Amino acid sequence: MNDPLLTRHSRGAHASALAAATAEVGRYLDDRTTPRSPASPSLLSDATAAVDLDAPLGSLDLALDEVRGLYLDHAVGYHHPRYLAHLNCPVTIPALAAETLTTAVNTAVETWDQGTSACLIEQRLIEWVAGLVDFDGPSGVRPDGVFTTGGSASNLQGLFTAREDRLGRPGTGSRGERLSRLRILTGEHAHMSVAMAARLLGLPRDAVVPLPCVGDMLDPAALDRELEHAAACGDEIAAVVAVAGTTDHGAIDPLAEIGAVCRRHDVWLHVDAAYGGGLLVSPTRRDMLDGIGLADSVTVDFHKTFFLPVAASGLLLRDRRGFRHSTLHADYLNPADGDEHAVDKSLQTTRRFDALKLWMTLRVIGADGIGELLDRAIEATARIGDLVASDPRMDLLRRPALSTVLFRPRPPGCDDDETDALVRPVRDALFAEGHSLVASTVVDGRPCLKLTVLDPDLRTSDAAAVLDEIRDAADRLARAGRTSATVEASA
Ligand SMILES: *Cc1c(COP(=O)(O)O)cnc(C)c1O
Repeated sequence: MNDPLLTRHSRGAHASALAAATAEVGRYLDDRTTPRSPASPSLLSDATAAVDLDAPLGSLDLALDEVRGLYLDHAVGYHHPRYLAHLNCPVTIPALAAETLTTAVNTAVETWDQGTSACLIEQRLIEWVAGLVDFDGPSGVRPDGVFTTGGSASNLQGLFTAREDRLGRPGTGSRGERLSRLRILTGEHAHMSVAMAARLLGLPRDAVVPLPCVGDMLDPAALDRELEHAAACGDEIAAVVAVAGTTDHGAIDPLAEIGAVCRRHDVWLHVDAAYGGGLLVSPTRRDMLDGIGLADSVTVDFHKTFFLPVAASGLLLRDRRGFRHSTLHADYLNPADGDEHAVDKSLQTTRRFDALKLWMTLRVIGADGIGELLDRAIEATARIGDLVASDPRMDLLRRPALSTVLFRPRPPGCDDDETDALVRPVRDALFAEGHSLVASTVVDGRPCLKLTVLDPDLRTSDAAAVLDEIRDAADRLARAGRTSATVEASA
């Protein structure tokens, strides 16, 4: 390629490169008849290692051919009706059009002199999302927010802000001493990124205190008692983390009650709505998030239940002044005696214009349009839950709360131990074959399978086919297990 950079003079090359890439996407959609290819990770590893990175191919077409063989032919298809593993969504087409714009223009959302209009669009969306959360604060306190790369990053910044808020209040001892006494209280099903944030924030190893749950939901009475106890023994609480949509079950903590407890104890409430955040735009289920406005900070992942491509997440603060903790000044960028800039609120410096894909999606299908996609996924999940519940060879472990199904296949005659032992091998067998992808996790201390549904158009017949495959694999593995046990016993 003799003109690899995008300029006015290379428009033609740009257009044909995108056309070629788009054609590859079309092929991928046509060819992805199973959610993944049966190629083993070791085969793909060898193929990737065999590429000589010091010998360029010299042409886009050749590079696309190579990428097709290495990547597209084997990429896991999240849009496929039998991909029911993790929280990966099919993505909106307006968002993809937006990505074409943002990557070509390459705006860095940092300062006015780098991206005025992008900063304005992003800020408008932040205010829109904050409006959906409907923060309950004194008049005069204004919410604000920032786009981040994901729920983990949003949780980190939310908890960082909480830590600074706490250490900024009067207390006994040096900052270091107080830091070593800081705790984060959360339900036992909090996302691991909360523990990671605590680690990065210099909190002690045992700082994250998992409190007992009732029906996978944080018990406000237990929280109240723990806060009393902490106050009595001089522990400082950096934050309470409530989850709106636990990653496995989709359970939503009782936000209104937890919010009331936190207000009474004057403790920071962070709501992790990375998964359940899409309910903010649901035309029929927004009430599931009642009380979220009592939060001091909120995480919402747009790349999950808003159906946007990775990466797009938001951290919202009830009081915009909290962002001062994230502000540092550089003479070349955002001098202290100058204007406020988007970078003042971010832990990143150079930041993608991820907001545009939310903007475009919103402008084309509207908030209701996004929320209806989630509603339909939730309704499809309920139907699959019924299917599992009515199957004598399946144990449904929880009524679906959002869009996941937790269950165990139970071949006839299998006891609990045998059933448990089948879970991972069944998941692995499905993965190896590639016709259906499901996840495995642990519920109540025992392994189980998990289906995650983010396909609004998932048909019950497709889900039934996945369940058939699971049942068949479980039967096969149970028989094989018994045969080998018999062989061992007689040997
Ligand atoms: C997915 C998830 C996260 C992490 O979000 P990423 O975007 O993967 O970083 C945090 N909390 C919950 C509840 C999640 O489901």
